[in-house]
Order: sequence, then C-alpha cells, then structure tokens
Amino acid sequence: MAHAVVIGAGIGGLTAAVALQRRGWDVTVLERAASLEPVGSGLAVAANALKALDTIDAGDEIRKLSAVQGDGGVRSAGGRWLARTSAEAVSAQYGDSVVLLRRAQLVDALVARLTPGTVRLNTTVTAVDPDTGRVTATTGAGENPDRRAAPAEQGEAAGEIEADLVVAADGIHSPVRNALFPEHPGPVYSGTTSWRVLVPAEGVPGQASESWGAGRVFGVMPLAGGTTYCYATDVVPAGGGGGDQLAELRRLFGGWHDPIPALLAAAEPGNVLRNDVYHLAAPLPAMHRGRVALLGDAAHAMTPNLGQGACQAIEDAVVLAYVAGPGGGPAADVASRLPDYTAARLERTWKIVTRSSSINRATKIRNPLAVRLRDTATALVSRLVPGAMSGAGEEIFGWRPPTA
Ligand SMILES: Cc1cc2nc3c(=O)[nH]c(=O)nc-3n(C[C@H](O)[C@H](O)[C@H](O)COP(=O)(O)OP(=O)(O)OC[C@H]3O[C@@H](n4cnc5c(N)ncnc54)[C@H](O)[C@@H]3O)c2cc1C
Repeated sequence: MAHAVVIGAGIGGLTAAVALQRRGWDVTVLERAASLEPVGSGLAVAANALKALDTIDAGDEIRKLSAVQGDGGVRSAGGRWLARTSAEAVSAQYGDSVVLLRRAQLVDALVARLTPGTVRLNTTVTAVDPDTGRVTATTGAGENPDRRAAPAEQGEAAGEIEADLVVAADGIHSPVRNALFPEHPGPVYSGTTSWRVLVPAEGVPGQASESWGAGRVFGVMPLAGGTTYCYATDVVPAGGGGGDQLAELRRLFGGWHDPIPALLAAAEPGNVLRNDVYHLAAPLPAMHRGRVALLGDAAHAMTPNLGQGACQAIEDAVVLAYVAGPGGGPAADVASRLPDYTAARLERTWKIVTRSSSINRATKIRNPLAVRLRDTATALVSRLVPGAMSGAGEEIFGWRPPTA
C-alpha cells in the first residue's frame, strides 16, 4: 500500500488525510501541537468547498451543523447598506449558499473520518527530502490531552519515515516551503491585525454583514445555536496585542451601528483572539517539488477578506488525492503525477490570493474623502453588477471537484 505523510493537522492537512485514506492510501499525519483544538472561532465555508467536502462524504454533515449565511452584505460604519447579497440567489446559482460554523466542528468531522491513530501529535518535522520522500521528525516531551489522536511518548524520537507522497500542510510559516523554495520571499504583513470572538448572543438580533469604516472592518456572522461569530480588522503595525483585547474592540467599534455594541457587550473577555494577518505576496513557482506537494496556507496564504483560505485548502486536498491516484496497489509514481496538481491549483489559488489582497487594500483606506469614494463605488458596483458583492461569483463559487 502506498504511504503518505501529511505534515500539519490543520483543516488542509486533515482534509488531505481523509481524501487519501478514502483512495486507499496508508496515511500518517504529523502535527507539532499537543492538541487538535483549532482556534476558537467561526469559519465561513462556501459552495466550492462544500462541493469538495461532498467528495469525502462530509458535505452534508457540515451543512447540517452550520447556519446558512442568509441575506446580508456590506455596510458602512453607520449601518447604511452599501451592497446586498441574497443567499437565495447564491444558492440558486451555485447549489449552496455560504455556511457558517465553528472551526472545531469542521475539525471534529474530519478527524471522525480518519482511521484511529492516523494523527501523531507532539511531532515536529525537521527535514524533508523531496527526492526520496524521507521525512525526519522529532517528538517533543509534550502532553497529549487529545484522545482522538495517537499519544506521543515523552521524549520519543519519531525518527525517519519513507513516504511515497509527502503533503506539506504546515501553514503560513511553512518550514517545508522555506526549505524547498529558499528563493521565495515568504509571508509579508498585510498591514492589518485581526480579532475573532464567538459571542453568546441569544436575544441579540443580527444578520450576516460586514461593515467597513476608515481602515476598519467589523463582521457579524450568526452561527447555529444562538452564538454569533464576530471578526474585526484594523490597520496597525504588526506585533501589537497583549492587554484586554475586548476593551480594545469596544474602544474601536463600540460606536458603530447596531447590533455591534450589543454584541461587544455580550462578549466574554477571555474569548477574543488577535492575530496579525500575513499573506504571500509572490506566488510559488510550483505547488510541488519531487514527491512533496504543498497545500493550503503553506502554498498560498491569503488575507481573509474573501473567506477562502480554508476553502482553498479543502479544494487542494481533494484535487491532490485525485491526482495521486489509488494507493491500494504498489506505490504510485507520485513525482511524475504532481505536475498535474500544480497545473490544477497554482493559477486558480493565486488569482484568489490576489483578489483577496485587493479587497484588503480597499478596507485599509483611511482618508475620509477616499472612504466616501470607496463606499460610493461599492454601492454602484453592487447595483450595476448584481451578485458582485457575494465576494466571488462564478469563478470561485462555481468550481467543481474532479470526478474519478
Ligand atoms: C481572521 C481570519 C479569518 C479567517 N476566516 C476564514 C473563513 O471564514 N473561511 C476560510 O475558508 N478561511 C478563513 N481564514 C483562513 C484559514 O484560517 C486558513 O486559510 C486555514 O486555516 C489554513 O489551513 P492550513 O491547514 O493550510 O494551515 P494551518 O491551519 O495553519 O495548519 C498548519 C498546521 O501545521 C502544523 N505545523 C507547522 N509546522 C509543523 C512542523 N514542522 N511539523 C509538524 N506540524 C507542523 C501547525 O501546528 C498547524 O497545526 C481566516 C483566516 C484568518 C486569519
């Protein structure tokens, strides 16, 4: 049986592991963290990623767990609607609307589809040889609080594993990308920091919206079960943070339109996550080298403005499993197949990185006159090009997975 080693148990790595196992591959996932718990936030999953999840029989479970994004759109800081989106129209056109759920629910659904013991926690990959598929890893002396994954022995050396295929799903600061493409400049700071918070918001009315002010954004995304996922961005130098981030959010957004002040009043201080937003500003020359395929943020980290980073990682994963072929027989000649993976993914993902980045630039505008012009242009475009503000349109949402 062909063997794949997946580096990283984020959404991209876990989806790849499920997709490869379903094609008959023996899969080992190596994850340096001590737990599979993802950050406590919400996630938008669009029609394209739901179609990809359908190929691993996870789409319907995710639809069931999620809230449909509903009608919404882009508003000004004062609450004026600049652009409206219709969930019904998106669903009619692409078969699904955008759905919203907690990240942990998606991770749980993926892990439940893996053969027990596939994921090895506390295991850090230190070297990968693209010619032989040899992966070198060390196992740290960490705890293993996550019973869904194989425990790591204290101080055990994970040693070397020979793999037919290595999937580098090791995130935006990917050590594998740095090693295989040393000439690539790596991630750059987008100029914006982000906050995410899950708010127990029973009784706070709200519909899905993203509001744009001068250099600032506030998103409101109601989830199933009375929780609302809120996110925000602001233009600040990288490396801030610390202190009371809920107080900071209330200071920045407490005067914005309803229901933002009520949501911030209902939020709990310990639940606010703050992360500086990095992205790749230059494409990789390829999404593979030898037997190694790069996937998700490792290959094409983007700003979150289109809500497509994880969706593209999910697409990558199912396409990679398709290209890799059945793993049940003798080891596949993976190195000769991976150029097809790059051909299927590089151009598509890079267009989305670029589009996300241009929306990010628009949200960073702070000059009052330029803000007024931006808002007027947004309102005009949305009136003249119905569906333009669903963020993506046919090119992104209309994607279909390959069929075996
Ligand atoms: C504010 C914000 C909001 C977002 N909202 C959305 C959204 O609504 N919808 C959407 O589709 N996307 C969204 N995204 C993007 C999305 O979060 C990412 O694109 C996605 O999580 C990337 O998944 P990944 O599996 O590629 O990487 P990651 O989730 O970063 O996983 C990488 C894993 O690799 C592990 N790792 C790293 N190095 C090693 C090593 N040497 N050995 C072993 N393991 C290693 C890490 O510990 C980590 O677990 C958002 C991003 C931000 C910042």
